[in-house]
Amino acid sequence: MVMHYKPTSQETPSDSELKNSSHQALFFKAQSSDALLDETLQEALKKAKGGFIEKRSQAIADVESFDSYKQQAQLVKNHTLDHLAYYLTQFEENVVKNGGHVHWASTPEQLNNIILHICERRDAKFVTKGKSMISEEANLNEALEAAGIDVTETDLGEYIIQLAKEPPSHIIVPAIHKTRQQVEALFRETHDLGERDLDKISALVDEARLQLRQKFLDADVGITGANMLIADTGSAMLVTNEGNGDLTATLPKVHIVTASIEKVIPDLESASAILRVLARSATGQPITSYTSLFSGPRDIEDLDGPDEFHVILLDNQRSQMLGSPFEEMLKCIKCGACLNHCPVYSAVGGHAYGWVYPGPMGSVLTPLMTGLKQSSDLPNASTFCGRCEEVCPMGIPLPELLRQLRNREHEEHLTPWKTRFSLQSFMWTIQHPRLFHWLTKMTRLILSNSTLTHFFEKHLFTSWYNSKELPKNHSKGTFMEQYKQNSKQKKK
Ligand code: SF4
Repeated sequence: MVMHYKPTSQETPSDSELKNSSHQALFFKAQSSDALLDETLQEALKKAKGGFIEKRSQAIADVESFDSYKQQAQLVKNHTLDHLAYYLTQFEENVVKNGGHVHWASTPEQLNNIILHICERRDAKFVTKGKSMISEEANLNEALEAAGIDVTETDLGEYIIQLAKEPPSHIIVPAIHKTRQQVEALFRETHDLGERDLDKISALVDEARLQLRQKFLDADVGITGANMLIADTGSAMLVTNEGNGDLTATLPKVHIVTASIEKVIPDLESASAILRVLARSATGQPITSYTSLFSGPRDIEDLDGPDEFHVILLDNQRSQMLGSPFEEMLKCIKCGACLNHCPVYSAVGGHAYGWVYPGPMGSVLTPLMTGLKQSSDLPNASTFCGRCEEVCPMGIPLPELLRQLRNREHEEHLTPWKTRFSLQSFMWTIQHPRLFHWLTKMTRLILSNSTLTHFFEKHLFTSWYNSKELPKNHSKGTFMEQYKQNSKQKKK
């Protein structure tokens, strides 16, 4: 079966488009240094971190065998990816049967154009949006605003960062980098509040609810994301904790779902296998507060619902991952567990990664979607501790994928010449054992002399030692010297 969504060479983004879409991913090092010095950000990250980890472990401890849940979810995704063209076609047929429309977008630009066209045809002035990472990939808000359309994010976190004119910093908690005090200041700056007391989180939530209520009622078009697309019913499934997805989808006359192609799964039973691991891994809940299914425009007997229902399926380099060493990445259900457990993400937050997807999953996805040249720091933004793979409910081998991207960087000469030179010298040295042993002896001597150590830190390895100190060495010899000594003593 032909996968007609596969981009042709003319549709594949040009180098300049890729450059624009990668935003600041190239500047990870500089951005993470700034993030480490930002005390407010550090305070917000510290508060958020513990909660996620504890809730997830409790949710997993509460079930008999989370491993068997994981296996079932992985089987669903493996099977679907093996038959992706079949299930996408089945999904399209069923959406059409239900009275909806399916559009195929190879690039984010195409997705924006399709949405702008629908809005123009329906003379839409106001748009509400439920959380959609796909629209972040496409910078949809900017495109809508440029066309003179008023767009409002309805997820509380997304609403906060929209007011702050910032991108999300976490895939499920977009405003995780904001403290309560910062949100209060933002509301005071942008809302007409008078002297209202906002020093409690519940007061901030009430204020946002008040503002959003009218936006829901005024909207001409509602745009939501989808956690899964059910092929045999032609439905889009969305999970939220705030119910904003339902109001965005059902109140306006037009509902548009934006989703990427790998979100399709065979049926509702497969969806429940994924739901079992999704909420537990993401927020530590057995299930989210709302699990909604949108299956087309309203029927004649329906009391509410949209007149028009559209699903836009975005490729954006994903079909290139199919059958490649990076296919595993298409199993990602965007639960965010790898971010919450990553020591690098926990230290620098999401904005340092410079594009839509941060943390370990983002360090793999961003180079694949925006080009390795534009994000060459990201595969190196890992300690390789392996925690991400351990907590990933879909068993995605993130460290191995990062390692493969590092290899590609090396092959494509994207790593700095100093790093390449050091690695090649190291490889050459370890192939010459005598030289290697002589060098380890010399290194030990240098490390046991503080003047020499200081000289090396200051003049030879300045960038490496900017934020570190060489360890002081008080050992009695190199590893091999001590090993030989110990073996001799044992023989005696
Ligand atoms: S890579 Fe795994 S842990 Fe990370 S967001 Fe995707 S599914 Fe969740």
